[in-house]
Amino acid sequence: MAGEPQADCLFCKIAAGEVPATVVRETDTTIAFRDINPQAPTHVLVIPKAHHPDAAALAAEAPQVAADVLREAGEVAAQEEVAPPPGGAGGPRTGYRVIFNTGAGAGQTVFHAHAHVLGGRGLEWPPG
Ligand code: IMP
Repeated sequence: MAGEPQADCLFCKIAAGEVPATVVRETDTTIAFRDINPQAPTHVLVIPKAHHPDAAALAAEAPQVAADVLREAGEVAAQEEVAPPPGGAGGPRTGYRVIFNTGAGAGQTVFHAHAHVLGGRGLEWPPG
């Protein structure tokens, strides 16, 4: 059933406290922790505690929790001091990116929905 913990899922184990992680924020429905292989000075993953295989499934199965994940991504950016000032301008180290890799071809390696929050350096466009 949608949302049920999966025995073989790494992020379900992190959400349950069975695998250690450097947690930076937590709510009733979400947990945010530092990526083990950071690609930027700030690289935090925001996950729903419940298991949904990717962002599209999360949005379809639990839209309120999808909104919680997006809100928490913004809160992480503010806490990490990478959020731009109101209006979006700011220096080269302000501004951040929220990424949901969806599908192996797009780089998804953990099939439990997660938002990457990346910031603290200049971020190129288009991404690789
Ligand atoms: P994906 O490739 O978009 O699925 O992102 C999965 C992310 O999880 C990668 O950036 C990995 O570095 C990260 N990751 C894998 N194992 C762990 C862990 O145990 N703790 C924190 N991050 C992890």
